Amino acid sequence: MKARVLQGTILILDGVSTNRIMLKVQLSAAWYHVVQANGLAGLGTLLRRTRPDLIVTAMTLPDGTALDLRAALQRDETLARIPVIAITPQNDRGARLCALEAGIDEVLAHPLDDMLLQARIRSLIRSHSAADDLQIQAGGHRVAGMAEPAAEFASLTLPVALDRPADVALVTALPATGAIWRARLKGVVGHNLRSYQMGNVQALMDQPVPDAVVVELSPDGSGAGLRFLADIRARSATRHSAIIAVPNPGNSHLAAEALDRGAHDVLQRGFCADELALRLAAQLARKARSDHMRNTLRDGMRAAVRDPMTGLFNRRYALPKLADMAHEAAGTGRNLAVMLVDLDHFKKVNDRYGHPAGDAVLVETARRLRVALRPQDLIARIGGEEFLIALPDTGPTDARATADRLCRQINATPFTVPGFSQPLWITTSIGVVVATPTSGMTGGANENQFSTTLISQADQALYEAKDAGRNQFTLIRPAA
Ligand code: GH3
Ligand code: MG
Ligand code: MG
Repeated sequence: MKARVLQGTILILDGVSTNRIMLKVQLSAAWYHVVQANGLAGLGTLLRRTRPDLIVTAMTLPDGTALDLRAALQRDETLARIPVIAITPQNDRGARLCALEAGIDEVLAHPLDDMLLQARIRSLIRSHSAADDLQIQAGGHRVAGMAEPAAEFASLTLPVALDRPADVALVTALPATGAIWRARLKGVVGHNLRSYQMGNVQALMDQPVPDAVVVELSPDGSGAGLRFLADIRARSATRHSAIIAVPNPGNSHLAAEALDRGAHDVLQRGFCADELALRLAAQLARKARSDHMRNTLRDGMRAAVRDPMTGLFNRRYALPKLADMAHEAAGTGRNLAVMLVDLDHFKKVNDRYGHPAGDAVLVETARRLRVALRPQDLIARIGGEEFLIALPDTGPTDARATADRLCRQINATPFTVPGFSQPLWITTSIGVVVATPTSGMTGGANENQFSTTLISQADQALYEAKDAGRNQFTLIRPAA
């Protein structure tokens, strides 16, 4: 028997057992693990035990409403983000707006459109698990079983909205529709609203890239709206924008299709300014949270590869990067120059002026070296006052010129350090090795060893430069 790959756990909450059974049959057939309850009593324990990915609840329960459920979830940080779909006995605009305002993700009316329900479930579970993954990577998850978040995670308080007015793009088949939507929406939201005609994707990429894009789906547009939303979802500029689809007029099949193509939210019953305002608020809050987590993650990854003092790459980043560059050079048969730059008599700077002055010199040295290099060159601080530089596509002549320029970057202008009026004259020694296609470059399994060899040869050259009196460079060319 083949193992079933379950799509997630769904909790069905309904006081009427036949309703629960009908939903359970449908959701089990779609490979969800289904848990049931008939009301709010004792729900906390069930939720913590089963950890559902989504809840489908009747709007009215024997002991409360879907809004009470949402409020109860909100009180527990570990449950607060579980998506909730509420089912109402009939379509009631007022009740729907109320529920959306309370933070319920979707309201569907009887008779249920199975296709829309399934698409809605898939889409909510998808964005919930994407947010979860991001939070785990950003280190903001509670460790299971811990009552309180660890202290270092406490700073990861998630924002509830963007910290600026949101930019919202309205994309419609006809400009007149855009103008009407914009006018109606203006009365209920404070966002910056821009309208575009469908098909003009490029204009949408202009700064500022919209935080949210509202896309009209018209049944006579032969799928233009659906194609457009899949397109902006896939582009790098707009891939983090929230996308809300509006079938015009309302159409549950188009709505389901839009969700499956990647829309984050949809107004299945067509344009309604109040409803769009609520859905925009929810989507912009979700975007603010994921932007924040993505930034935390990026800062963390940046910190892992950078030296905090100079901002240059650290040793951990530089050594494998050099191996990659060596591999590339061996593969393409191009030159690669590697340098080790070491400040002369740096210990004396510390001894005479103190460690903070030494630090200031290191920061300024890093800056002077960086600005003298090309964007494709690698520079890293790999030791206290030692820097590794790798220059792709650089032969002996250019390597000499660069090494000479770097020496002058340091010795031509004295350093000023805070607290000392007289400038400090500093010099540096540089060991240079140039690997050329004729110098026994090897690729394949040897590239790690190759880059290690390059570093030790540069180190040998550095030693010679020191020995020859410092404030100079020595170049060696590996024997062919
Ligand atoms: P040489 O010309 O032979 O390179 O002499 P040197 O004094 O520069 O070499 P040595 O390796 O003996 O000393 C390096 C000094 O760099 C020792 C250490 O105190 C200092 N140093 C290393 N890291 C830092 C740092 O982060 N900040 C400061 N201020 N000094 C550092
Ligand atoms: Mg030194
Ligand atoms: Mg040193």
